[in-house]
Amino acid sequence: MRVLVTGGAGFLGSHLCDLLLQKGHDVIAMDNLITGDISNIAHIREERFTFIKHDVTNYIYIDGPLDAILHFASPASPVDYLELPIQTLKVGSLGTHKALGLAKSKNARFLLASTSEVYGDPKIHPQDETYWGNVNPVGPRGVYDEAKRFAEALTMAYHRYHHVDTKIVRIFNTYGPRMRINDGRVVPTFIAQALKGESLTIFGDGSQTRSFCYVSDLVDGIYRLLMSDAHDPVNIGNPKEMTIKAFASVICRLTGKPDNIVSQPLPVDDPKVRQPNIDRARALLSWEPVVDLEEGLKRTIDYFRENPHVR
Ligand code: UDP
Repeated sequence: MRVLVTGGAGFLGSHLCDLLLQKGHDVIAMDNLITGDISNIAHIREERFTFIKHDVTNYIYIDGPLDAILHFASPASPVDYLELPIQTLKVGSLGTHKALGLAKSKNARFLLASTSEVYGDPKIHPQDETYWGNVNPVGPRGVYDEAKRFAEALTMAYHRYHHVDTKIVRIFNTYGPRMRINDGRVVPTFIAQALKGESLTIFGDGSQTRSFCYVSDLVDGIYRLLMSDAHDPVNIGNPKEMTIKAFASVICRLTGKPDNIVSQPLPVDDPKVRQPNIDRARALLSWEPVVDLEEGLKRTIDYFRENPHVR
């Protein structure tokens, strides 16, 4: 296949480019490099790989045929989308519209990177795909959550009315090499703090929960979804849930540091719990995560040790 990955220089986008090339496909990565970084794809030498610097909220032109589009362009960490609220809304709405229009004109299948954030601060736990969510549309996180909810609605509309072969993945917290050390998410933040011997900043009392999936498991699930006949949303994430406080202790232990934490205020609308129900992914894709948390974190810690200056 000839595949376009929007956000191809980002954390997930670049891992997807690697996997697609490994599977034998031709890959075009597109990114405006606002939160993505060219260093994430600098190792790729294949002639089957092309990079185009472009902001997908503007008309997308691709020469020649396309078989698939994976729409991964968006700021994705709370710190990023709070700094880039308008761009986040635009890429989820206008960018998704441009990418879907391109899929329609090229007769390409389309996969939307959606998110567990569509469930907001969930009242159903764990979250399965039939849950409609509990999102504050006017809160600071609303720019991301609502953009992704709109993107899902637009994707289903293109599927129903234009018969585009669409897929929607709802991605839960994912971690691994190529996260930006300062993107504000809990994994790079805690690892960087531990490696520097600083206190780990726990927001609130640390009783909120998350479930962390290693990036290789995630992109494997996404590839299976791309190749499947599914059209309804599918959760991809690791169901192993833990409190942020317990997570901080794991990071201290794996970096060989004493437990050293400091409390900071909880951000507005921070979800209290999050855990994917992955029954649908198991049934439709025969997928489930295989990398356990300690192994994945060791690889991630090694990456941050070797790349202490990544922006
Ligand atoms: N968090 C924290 N300390 C940090 C960064 C994040 O305690 O320095 C918490 C945050 O409040 C949230 C969880 O860790 O409850 C995961 O945050 P992240 O920004 O990684 O992603 P989210 O799951 O909230 O989208």
